[in-house]
Amino acid sequence: MTAPVRVAFYGGLGEIGRNMASVEVDGRVALIDVGLIFPDAEHHGIDLILPDWSTLRERREDVHCAVITHGHEDHMGALPFFLREFPAVPIYSTRLTLGLIRAKLEEYPEITADLREVEAGERLSTGPFDIEFVGVTHSIPDGLAIALHTPHGTILHSGDFKLDQTPIDGRPTDLPHLAQLGDDGVALLLADSTNADQPGHVATERSIGKTLRDVFREARERVVVTTFASHIHRVQQVIDAARDAERLVCFVGRSMLRNMPIARELGYLTYEERQVVELSEVDRLPRDRTVIICTGSQGEPYAALSLMAAGQHRQVRLEPGDTVVMASSVIPGNEHAIYRSINGLFRQGADVVHKGIADVHVSGHAASGELRYFHNVVRPSAFVPVHGEYRHLVAHARLAVETGTPSDQVFVCEDGDTVVLEDGVVRRGDSFTPGVVFVDGLGVGDVGSAVLRARGQLSAEGICVAVVTIDQHSRLVGTPQVVQQGIIYEPESSPLLDQAVKALSEELHASTGQGDQAVIRRDTVRALARFWKEATGRRPVILPVLMEV
Ligand SMILES: [Zn+2]
Ligand SMILES: [Zn+2]
Repeated sequence: MTAPVRVAFYGGLGEIGRNMASVEVDGRVALIDVGLIFPDAEHHGIDLILPDWSTLRERREDVHCAVITHGHEDHMGALPFFLREFPAVPIYSTRLTLGLIRAKLEEYPEITADLREVEAGERLSTGPFDIEFVGVTHSIPDGLAIALHTPHGTILHSGDFKLDQTPIDGRPTDLPHLAQLGDDGVALLLADSTNADQPGHVATERSIGKTLRDVFREARERVVVTTFASHIHRVQQVIDAARDAERLVCFVGRSMLRNMPIARELGYLTYEERQVVELSEVDRLPRDRTVIICTGSQGEPYAALSLMAAGQHRQVRLEPGDTVVMASSVIPGNEHAIYRSINGLFRQGADVVHKGIADVHVSGHAASGELRYFHNVVRPSAFVPVHGEYRHLVAHARLAVETGTPSDQVFVCEDGDTVVLEDGVVRRGDSFTPGVVFVDGLGVGDVGSAVLRARGQLSAEGICVAVVTIDQHSRLVGTPQVVQQGIIYEPESSPLLDQAVKALSEELHASTGQGDQAVIRRDTVRALARFWKEATGRRPVILPVLMEV
């Protein structure tokens, strides 16, 4: 019998984002998703956060392929960084997902990628992997669940999914296929937990079309709709409702302008050329004849809607009587930024329609009612909840037990955990300690927690730099200089800085450390720390600079 199959989780368990898992069969590794997560305010200036694949770096040639479930950033966004290290690994996914990956990779001309298109319903054999692709509905078209048939049993990964029975593209989650897999036996299920603690079922995407038509009909002036630039079905409904209301649409925002032509060219979005106008033409049309479709639904500072809300968008100015529709979710952590946008929009005189007051958004992730149904169709022998914060994973684990998976075969795992599948039975494997890899500017992984702590202190307390001049025997020369940023407001000079210089001079001259640079540094830090603490109650970062003359 071949070696047991090992499944490792690199990201996405205990957090929503940077999804990545590996399945190892016969020493070969297949990856499922290579996603990223966007930083929050605690991450001082970090641009992106990646999964930590350092354990794979040591065995690069064993990485056989990567399968991407769908085109969301939290599933494919880390690919440019991954491909820099693993350029030869083929990437399998559907047409739209690959289209979005290709568009992303255009920003990284040095990267070559071996992209291989597959279709839902297809079965593929590569190396020791026998992979089946199952179509699922989600908030982006062309999503996949992945079934891996291994010598020890079948592993099914749901991808991000819901059970919309009347999806816009007529391609519902393939329940007959899932039932067939269930009949043949699924040894281990890994499934989306995002909405496991939400009751009931997610309403069909189609229900939003009616609301949009009502809003567009009643709107007297300009209409602006914001949603995710990947939510092609939502955009389709906006375009259709605009057509019914005899309004032309205009795409605004970099990712909208990038994605919509791709989606149309690949056949996922349908509209006539004459339904769309350029932003430069919008102002020449009557205000009640247009709908602007833009990015910025999460209050991202430089996105189109945020600029409109602040009255700073160069081409689009809102006026009293305009209507803004937020056809999007509130991603946890973004509440503050979103409410700032909504406040700004009202201040511009616009009326704001959001999911709190009308049905303009439905989630892309199955709620608990759908998950129960899904588990009963798949009937897995073992289960690991994925894609969720810890509370979602626990809710999903309970639900699996409720629907019949034995409780000793349900494993709540976190990033860095592994499970082992042998002869159809699952057990916990060794864990590894996954790092977080920060991308900041051009650097990948060079900023760690120590740097972030320092940035936190700098932003909270400010910095004081002391320049101490010494001779070649490390003895003091003249008076030290002290400058600061972010401790006090200091237009030119300040009596407080003069006092700081005085306190530092006295300390250094009284010190026995003359001639020893390390002692001078230490005394400088001590004197200034004490000074700022006593004078202001603050604890700035103190940076001593010794200058030899
Ligand atoms: Zn997704
Ligand atoms: Zn996701």
